Amino acid sequence: MPRTLAVANQKGGVAKTTTVATLGAALVELGQRVLLVDLDPQACLTFSVGIDPEDLDKSIHHVLLGGVRARDVLIELDGALDLLPATIALATADVQLARESGPEQVLRTALRPLRTAYDWIIVDCPPTLGLLTVNGLSAASDVLIPLQCETLAHRGVGQLLDTVHDVQRLTNPGLRVLGVLPTLYDGRTTHARTVLETIADTYSLDVLQPAIPKSIRFAEAPAIGETVLSTAPASPGAKAYRALAGALLH
Ligand code: ADP
Ligand code: MG
Repeated sequence: MPRTLAVANQKGGVAKTTTVATLGAALVELGQRVLLVDLDPQACLTFSVGIDPEDLDKSIHHVLLGGVRARDVLIELDGALDLLPATIALATADVQLARESGPEQVLRTALRPLRTAYDWIIVDCPPTLGLLTVNGLSAASDVLIPLQCETLAHRGVGQLLDTVHDVQRLTNPGLRVLGVLPTLYDGRTTHARTVLETIADTYSLDVLQPAIPKSIRFAEAPAIGETVLSTAPASPGAKAYRALAGALLH
């Protein structure tokens, strides 16, 4: 059984997509077979691994709503890394899913035949708490919450945790909250550290280590379909994601 990690936060720009792509690549470096799942209609993950969504005639949308098998939509990125891509077609999925029976479990069911092919499935959730995110959470064994450590960063964490608790109660009792991953972290400021402590205390969440440092390197990599692991392998950001991948394996 693969570990299925939902990366979720309804706030945009907190490095969900960056975390999915980079952590996935770091797990592949450690010999793991990894499937990335793009659940965001903006398709940023799909773009960032070098696929143009405009060139695709099938996407995860057809898996969720068109009866297409996941394996018929998969894109092999390299030997051990595959992608279930998104396109803008997913923008209407929340509404359409609501008309299905068991609308929260559609992704879980669709991924089931792929179970033996991967060690990790990592799901990039959209910046909403709608049915797409609920599908990501319902399919997951663990949820990781990237959080940018600024003053108002934790507005919304309570709402996200409410959604997680609903999913635990209704569809996926085994879902674990892995913790908060501090992203775009500037450890030089005591402010960032204070925000983290406040969040850990307020919600009694684990804070994952190491924090992912803020670095311009992260902006450059996805434009050429790469991650910082290959464009800046010795950078603190690359090292942080490698360390996180190592910690998740143990
Ligand atoms: P989300 O998926 O939560 O909306 P993204 O992963 O798309 O967030 O990241 C938002 C922006 O922040 C992107 O331009 C990305 O390149 C940048 N970014 C992500 N992580 C970092 C980091 N550690 N340091 C600096 N910029 C980052
Ligand atoms: Mg994103």
